[in-house]
Amino acid sequence: MKPRFTALKGVADVLPPETGLWRKIENTACLVMGAYGYEEIRPPVMEQTGLFLRSIGGSSDIVAKEMYTFTDKGERSVSLRPEGTASIVRAYVEHNLSSRPAPQKFFYSGPMFRYERPQKGRQRQFYQLGAECFGIADPGVDAEMIIMLMAFLDRLGLKGLSLELNSIGCKECRPAFRERLREFFAPRLGELCPDCQRRYEQNPLRILDCKVERCGEIRKGSPLISETLCQDCREHFTALLEFLDVMGTAYVFNPHMVRGLDYYTRTVFEVKGGACMGAQNAVAAGGRYDLLVSEFGGPETPAIGFAAGMERLAGLLQGEAVTPGPALFIASLGKEAAVEALKLASRLREGGTRVELGWGGFSLKSQLRRADKIGAGNVVIIGEDELKSGSFKWKNLKDGSSGEAGREDIFAQFSQAK
Ligand code: ATP
Ligand code: MG
Repeated sequence: MKPRFTALKGVADVLPPETGLWRKIENTACLVMGAYGYEEIRPPVMEQTGLFLRSIGGSSDIVAKEMYTFTDKGERSVSLRPEGTASIVRAYVEHNLSSRPAPQKFFYSGPMFRYERPQKGRQRQFYQLGAECFGIADPGVDAEMIIMLMAFLDRLGLKGLSLELNSIGCKECRPAFRERLREFFAPRLGELCPDCQRRYEQNPLRILDCKVERCGEIRKGSPLISETLCQDCREHFTALLEFLDVMGTAYVFNPHMVRGLDYYTRTVFEVKGGACMGAQNAVAAGGRYDLLVSEFGGPETPAIGFAAGMERLAGLLQGEAVTPGPALFIASLGKEAAVEALKLASRLREGGTRVELGWGGFSLKSQLRRADKIGAGNVVIIGEDELKSGSFKWKNLKDGSSGEAGREDIFAQFSQAK
């Protein structure tokens, strides 16, 4: 028995025609973000483990239980990236990108790794497309990024998405909120799930994010960060909402949203899909992280970013996944004809026309059946007679029209077909 391998649990192949959707998503992102001045950055997929511990934080689910961490042959602790921001901040500091004029704007896309329970919309290797903007604290930058994200989703043709926003304060006002939360949860600490009991000590904000039903019950009526924001944070958030209002960007203020990573400050946001997505309905999420660059030894640099989940975006576009057939199929009989077909195809392909050839020495009938099956727009037939006469038969499989033409006319006829 030969071994038969399958992909790992929670790790999927992306196959055509779905890859076409992925390409469309990436191309659209490139186009929209390009107009906003974002340039692509390609960080590595693995980093020193410490980078994620320090940025995402020990109280987050990602660091507590989801990291793919291993010791390499040089005895270093290495982790596969669970998200993109940490690497980009590391690159920003490492390459001294703060010396370039602010704001510095980057986008990225690629695989992320989290050891989560695989289910619809949740995988262990998944892909994110994200953007980061460094150097400006102005709430206009928050608005601009959110508007860009919504423009990207809109350009993809996605409808019925909702944008939720909150501010989670800064290093001035958050400590007081943490204490208020501790006071609120203290009497019922024993009823919280074990994770939340740990969170109570490390970072009680995380309790607000817990998916366990019982914890959801207990946190009803808990203090809201919006009640404890300092003056600066309050003004920043109000200004953001005003920008969105004047731009007509619809949003929902969600005072309960805290997000799952420790590095966020002030603005946090999420874009959710409709009910069709089930429980895993966040397509994109992000926020401000004004302290992270300096945390990694860079100059004090306000920053903001978001990441969108490719699988979830592709899932919403699913119905559109079709590979169009070739513009032309050239059936040929005999070696000489095959060479003629190959030459004609090469010339047409140079101009971008998609051409398939009837390789395999099959009968004309079976070649034509194949052309039909793959949805070819046209066929050209080259047999012995055609070679002799220099005149090839063609047929349009969509409208049934047909005719005969010399090599150059055939080339001209199909050189514009895509
Ligand atoms: P969720 O609440 O859905 O777990 P999250 O807060 O962990 O999301 P982020 O870390 O903010 O997600 O990542 C941004 C986006 O990446 C999410 O909105 C989602 O679309 C996607 N994403 C996150 N984790 C996964 C996963 N395991 N599989 C597929 N997509 C994911
Ligand atoms: Mg998660």
